[in-house]
Formats: sequence, C-alpha cells, structure tokens
Amino acid sequence: MSKRSERCPICGKAIVAAHAPFCSAACRDRDLIRWLDEDYRVPLKPEDDGDG
Ligand SMILES: [Zn+2]
Repeated sequence: MSKRSERCPICGKAIVAAHAPFCSAACRDRDLIRWLDEDYRVPLKPEDDGDG
C-alpha cells in the first residue's frame, strides 16, 4: 500500500514513517493519552476494603 494522502490524525501534518501513523512522537503520545483518558473516566477502585 502506498497511500500518500494519509495525514496525522492529531494535527493534520504529513506523517513521518518513524512515528507513523503520526507526524511525531508528541502526536503519538497525544493519541495514546486520548484513549487512556477515556479509561480514567471510569471510577477506579483504589483498593478492596474487604467486606468479610
Ligand atoms: Zn501530528
């Protein structure tokens, strides 16, 4: 496949192979944080208090 219309989904810049499918490590991290953030929305339980 040789798509050259692909662009960084974060900022829209040209994709860099080293950081594909993003343009830079920064954007790659951003994307990661994005979906991680969604997970964080779930009320996490710090520890099981133990009910028995
Ligand atoms: Zn980017």
